Amino acid sequence: MSTFNPADNIQDLQYFGEFGGVNPSISDSSTYTFLSAKTMFDTFEGNAEGCYLYSRHSSPSNLYLGQALAAMEGTEAANVAASGMGAITPVLMQLCGAGDHIVSSRTIYGGTYAFLKNFAPKFNISTTFIDITKLDKVEAAITPNTKVLYCETVSNPLLEVADIEGLAKIAKKHNLKLVVDNTFSPLSVAPGKLGADVVIHSLTKFINGSSDTVGGVVCGTQQFIDDLRNVNDGASMLLGPTMDSLRAASILKNLRTLHIRMKQHSHNAMYLAQKFEKDGLKVVYPGLESHSSHKLYASMINPEYGFGGMMTIDVGSLDKANELMELMQEKNLGYLAVSLGFYKTLFSAPGTSTSSEIPLEEQQEMGLTDGLIRFSIGLDNDIERTYQMMKHCMMELNIL
Ligand SMILES: *Cc1c(COP(=O)(O)O)cnc(C)c1O
Repeated sequence: MSTFNPADNIQDLQYFGEFGGVNPSISDSSTYTFLSAKTMFDTFEGNAEGCYLYSRHSSPSNLYLGQALAAMEGTEAANVAASGMGAITPVLMQLCGAGDHIVSSRTIYGGTYAFLKNFAPKFNISTTFIDITKLDKVEAAITPNTKVLYCETVSNPLLEVADIEGLAKIAKKHNLKLVVDNTFSPLSVAPGKLGADVVIHSLTKFINGSSDTVGGVVCGTQQFIDDLRNVNDGASMLLGPTMDSLRAASILKNLRTLHIRMKQHSHNAMYLAQKFEKDGLKVVYPGLESHSSHKLYASMINPEYGFGGMMTIDVGSLDKANELMELMQEKNLGYLAVSLGFYKTLFSAPGTSTSSEIPLEEQQEMGLTDGLIRFSIGLDNDIERTYQMMKHCMMELNIL
């Protein structure tokens, strides 16, 4: 990768509060006054740069956070949303209309899968789900009505890696928009730099990192972000998944430590993945050479931030998975909870939780087995100590 460093780009952004505060002032208003009626008209028409109209459209606090996230992804602009799904669904509704078609990775976040499979068809938008790691299958699924190619950089929960440069070439060739959900790999991967047209995050996860709110962001060209916010036909403006200013200010403060946290998440996950693989467990982690896309992923990431904090271990059966998770929680090694990116390790069995929207037979086909546990590895200071304690739990249950 070039000299693009997302953490430096964030650091270089300097905002002051109204009275010289070291944090920007929080905009505590839903509506804004205009000194002249003409400016109000121009703002509605989208011609008054720097003027605020109404906080569903934009607010200073939301623009600060959006600007920082655009700097992180290296895109021209960004629009924050009230949740990750509040970012994803307007993007797809903006890019597709009745009769249009989407080609999507089959291993994606359960909510996105449910939206594409069950909700979008109500608007006559159809989706073909494919194995994203097979570029020939991706291209074969494209029809004359296809508008969007959709994937996650590192997929949830199977940790498959999308070849974003390869997908971007296909998207260009067929005049499609490549939309990438980068939630699992902030800072490590910059999909926009690899050719993605739109980059999305659930801010709920690593970026906010404190499991105290949901949030989302869409990063893309200024034109696309303006389109989403257009008062006449912008999906974000009209569907209204707006983040509150107080939350935007709070997420911006947490974003300031993201680089330190990602390094520790990656360090700890790599440590445990290597140890448990050596112990003979079925571990999936993109940092392991045994991962089918290890080389590809190593070529995509900024190595400073590592291979990320997510890993899976298959312990053989759902009963074993449940027993192990309950025992690890009892020993305070983490929480049996969905979501990810918290200081504490979180674990869940995706087949019965976050991916339960996916029918059983499809789960089997994609390799989502019963005994699979998804780990979001925390910021533990002494990871060897954590390893020893986890190993004890596994030995107690005859998993090791
Ligand atoms: C959690 C998640 C989402 C949805 O985000 P919310 O903030 O829960 O709406 C989308 N994509 C991925 C990869 C996620 O992990």
